[in-house]
Amino acid sequence: MKTDEFRKLGYELIDFIADYRDNAKDYPVMSQVLPGETMAKLPKQAPEAGGGLANITVELEDMIPALTHWQHPMNFSYYPANAELSSVLGDLLSSGLGQLGLNWQASPALSEFEEQMTIWMRDLLGLPDYFEGVFQDTASTSTMLAMICARERSSNHSQTRAGLQAEEKPLIVYVSEQSHSSVEKAALLAGFGRDNIRAIRTDENFALIPELLEQAIKTDIEKGYLPCAVTATTGTTATAALDPVASIAKIAKKYELWLHVDSAMAGSAMIIPELRWMWEGVEEADSIVLNPHKWLGAVFDISLFYVHDSEHLIRVMSTNPSYLQTSADDVVKNYRDWGIPLGRRFRALKLWFLLRSEGAEGLRKRIKRDIDNAKWLAMQVENDPDWELIAPVDLQTVCVRFKGAKGDRLEQNRNWAKRINASGQAFLTPAIIDDKWMVRVSVGALPTELKDVKKLWQIMQNAVI
Ligand SMILES: *Cc1c(COP(=O)(O)O)cnc(C)c1O
Repeated sequence: MKTDEFRKLGYELIDFIADYRDNAKDYPVMSQVLPGETMAKLPKQAPEAGGGLANITVELEDMIPALTHWQHPMNFSYYPANAELSSVLGDLLSSGLGQLGLNWQASPALSEFEEQMTIWMRDLLGLPDYFEGVFQDTASTSTMLAMICARERSSNHSQTRAGLQAEEKPLIVYVSEQSHSSVEKAALLAGFGRDNIRAIRTDENFALIPELLEQAIKTDIEKGYLPCAVTATTGTTATAALDPVASIAKIAKKYELWLHVDSAMAGSAMIIPELRWMWEGVEEADSIVLNPHKWLGAVFDISLFYVHDSEHLIRVMSTNPSYLQTSADDVVKNYRDWGIPLGRRFRALKLWFLLRSEGAEGLRKRIKRDIDNAKWLAMQVENDPDWELIAPVDLQTVCVRFKGAKGDRLEQNRNWAKRINASGQAFLTPAIIDDKWMVRVSVGALPTELKDVKKLWQIMQNAVI
């Protein structure tokens, strides 16, 4: 493609995206297409002849029914995966500039924007300046790095010898029964083995019980195992529960465990100083993950991984083949040594654009709006005898259960949510907690205002009749 065609098509595509955002509210939130329907419409083979993009926006219109509209005001599913338009432009720029950060020299701007954005965010989050950050694709990857760092610290760099396979004592990882599935996955992939992962029970608010953590550690020590790492979550996936980070940190320190704080979703809210009690003790963490690509508003993918001891991370992750060495290596950061991939995208741009466009003040205001809206819904639920709130609402996730009427209580709550989702009016996530179905209402899509939450409450009440 030549630049003149790029210009013409590019303007058309920007128009298409802007129209899509304006009109998203008119589509059924959850896509109504059937499995296989979309693929069946695509040609079976790649085109031999080029030049096929001339009418692409017409074809893109046809794709819209196969989209689930995350940026819809009535999207209350999963978690806010906000793709603020300023950030979309930053992402486009990243692609357009075609940069590849293999080392500092391969793109000085890519490296130094990344460093400065992690500093901006650290300061906005109120984290101490001994934390150093790096962008990863997702929280799953960041947590994987945390588990590998923990493994290498407890085993005094077993990978430089015969690895975990030669360790005398099994290394143990502690999670809560409400931890995100990515934590267990990370521990498994880091080689700990399922037998060496302990899921600690949670209290009535779904927060990890520190006393049980300490008991489990003591038991493991008695058995001759080596406790290695614990993950505390600020804002769990099911109910946005808050693990007591400070108490867990004390235990982690006492028994020399790596403390990883998973605040993938809720971490964005910590740019609001009044909310920082939620992760009190976070300064004791060895590593922290939060996803600007969730509530903060940066378009997927950008996950922020902070470590207390960057030298340890680098020692674990670095390789230094001759063809990547440059004379600047001693004075710059080479982010290939801060994670798994060698090549990296210019992710800083989408965050830079977001922060420049909205300002910290704008982001704080939007997050506060979402919390207020979630609390409004929580109040309606609390005041209605037919409904119950399953967990405290400190953030933007409202977990509800309908308990009125007859019928199978177990399936009932999944069914009314399914009906709403199928109707296209709103999109919610049914989930199981304590062996019973409940429904998660995750407030915080960019265009969601109080009037939309009010509409949702009406829809919910109609759906259970
Ligand atoms: C979303 C989420 C994850 C996983 O995030 P990815 O970036 O999709 O890997 C992990 N932990 C928590 C608490 C989350 O909310």
